[in-house]
Amino acid sequence: MNGKYLLRTFGCQMNEHDSERIAGLLESDGYVATEETTDAQVVVFNTCAVRENADERLYGNLGHLRPLKRRNPRLRIVVVGCLAQKDQGRIRERAPWVDVVVGTHALPGLLELLRASETEGAQMDVREQTEVFPSALPARRGSTHHAWVSVSVGCDNACSFCIVPLVRGPQLSRPMGDIVAEVQDLAREGFVEVTLLGQNVNTYGRDLTAPDPSKGPLFAELLRAIDAVDGIRRLRFTSPHPHDFSPRVVEAMAECPSVCEHIHFPLQSGSDRVLKGMRRSYRSERYLEWLRRIRAAVPGIAVTTDVIVGFPGETEEDFAATLDVVREARFDQAYTFRYSPRPGTRAAQMPGRVPKDTVQGRFERLVELQERISLERMRELEGETVEVLVEGVGRKGNVQGRTRTNKIVHLDGEFGSGTFLDARIVSAHPHHLVGELVRVRAAAAVG
Ligand code: SF4
Repeated sequence: MNGKYLLRTFGCQMNEHDSERIAGLLESDGYVATEETTDAQVVVFNTCAVRENADERLYGNLGHLRPLKRRNPRLRIVVVGCLAQKDQGRIRERAPWVDVVVGTHALPGLLELLRASETEGAQMDVREQTEVFPSALPARRGSTHHAWVSVSVGCDNACSFCIVPLVRGPQLSRPMGDIVAEVQDLAREGFVEVTLLGQNVNTYGRDLTAPDPSKGPLFAELLRAIDAVDGIRRLRFTSPHPHDFSPRVVEAMAECPSVCEHIHFPLQSGSDRVLKGMRRSYRSERYLEWLRRIRAAVPGIAVTTDVIVGFPGETEEDFAATLDVVREARFDQAYTFRYSPRPGTRAAQMPGRVPKDTVQGRFERLVELQERISLERMRELEGETVEVLVEGVGRKGNVQGRTRTNKIVHLDGEFGSGTFLDARIVSAHPHHLVGELVRVRAAAAVG
């Protein structure tokens, strides 16, 4: 029996998914989770290189552990993920008390590295290629009804602001049979909802069908294959790239009953000039055209997006173009980011840095506009009855669930996580809805 482990996760859903595997690996070796640093025999930081100040946060966290490590030299400190891949040996140069550094492709070897660190000293594996998908490893799922399923790792695009291709490598798709088998197992265990994860899900399978481009990417086929799995009532995916969207995917979304009426469709900028600088190979009109097609095919679909403000060289006119697209697109929600350079990316070398105050001012105008639109979109649901899948207890002690359109609903009552119910929406807020129970459709199968 091993001791306790503490796992801290930063960043995106991909990291959340990897963390389920890290927890699964550690627990398969007898470790037990803890939230107390002082209790832990192993502390793992699953890091992100995308978010602002990620480096400072990591080294700050590592600094806090130093006195603990001095008092207890048997404590193992592990750094995993994108920053591990990016900084490699620099992590131990800055924090020599770190025991193990594991890059994004080396997760399967975590336990061996941990063991070796006990007898042989510090270990590092930052290999450049994925040989085993994290999804093939044991998992400790964070939910009893919803599961992340990875369909590909890496990305073949080269968006100039993005560090992902550098730290996750080129796209590598998981064989479709493996993905479907995992979803079938999940359905047998009682999971009712899956979210497919890939940096650019639209190009899923392109590397599997190469060199025969006529077979094309297989994402539409994958959606249909998973839709056919009994028991999976909600199927989501993130994220599609607007450039690689295809009519086949729209058809599959419209025709597969389990595919939820929600799409995360990253815009990044409404200015064609800025999109070009970002190396995003679509233009605003093309983006809006896809949106019209998706909305026509899937009525009532909710659309969320990402927008970056203050990309190098962004003028007031460029920003106005972004506001115009946001007004026209009427997103349900937007994740808005102030541009900050990531070392190693092309954009970090670009001239035309926008002054901080200007970025902040634009950011606030964008948020204000989007909050107004988000509230209007939410209000359209007042009085409607919607299907809610209960996720657990909300912050105010009431039940929290999600609609098929991925909107959060709070309501009174006691329902287990994984319960499907119908709720009438009684009030709308920019980021959540309040509903009242109409009827319970199906009680939770698990949990
Ligand atoms: S599509 Fe662009 S933003 Fe998305 S992961 Fe690939 S390079 Fe990064």
